[in-house]
Amino acid sequence: MPRTCKICKTKFNPQYNSVQPACSIKCAIEYTNNLKAKKWKVEKKVLKEKLKTTSDYLKELQTVFNQWIRLRDKGNVCISCQKPAKKENAGHYRSVGSSPQLRFEPLNNNLQCEYCNTYLHANLINYRINLIKKIGLDKVEWLEQEHEPKHYSIPELILMKQEYKEKVRQLKR
Ligand SMILES: [Zn+2]
Ligand SMILES: [Zn+2]
Repeated sequence: MPRTCKICKTKFNPQYNSVQPACSIKCAIEYTNNLKAKKWKVEKKVLKEKLKTTSDYLKELQTVFNQWIRLRDKGNVCISCQKPAKKENAGHYRSVGSSPQLRFEPLNNNLQCEYCNTYLHANLINYRINLIKKIGLDKVEWLEQEHEPKHYSIPELILMKQEYKEKVRQLKR
């Protein structure tokens, strides 16, 4: 039974065994090298995954979470300056540095323009005024209270990322 060489695609009659993948020594070497490269690619991925730290998982979750915030608030103006955002950010009311417990709290995150978020350091006075209008004083005061520290485990972070990915998919429909 003639076979097609996996490398050069020519038809050939196998000399060694019926599943011989390549027509010649030259093609066989290339075929083996390709396999090794493929295997290394997979191994590298596994290694990288193993070396990931909690902070890597936090960052990945933050990216998906922010994407969800931007989609949830699509069409809204910037929470602080009340103008349409040229570049949309997801802006924290209580910052990640000061309140890491509220890092993934939906009420604490709102669509913000990049100018307010970055250059005006969240433009907090106006953020507060408009956040009260958006979610009510009770919830804003709740955000302003002290919150129990949160320690996410890696499986928890992976799960949360999956949940927010699903939420993003739903909003994109
Ligand atoms: Zn060949
Ligand atoms: Zn703004």
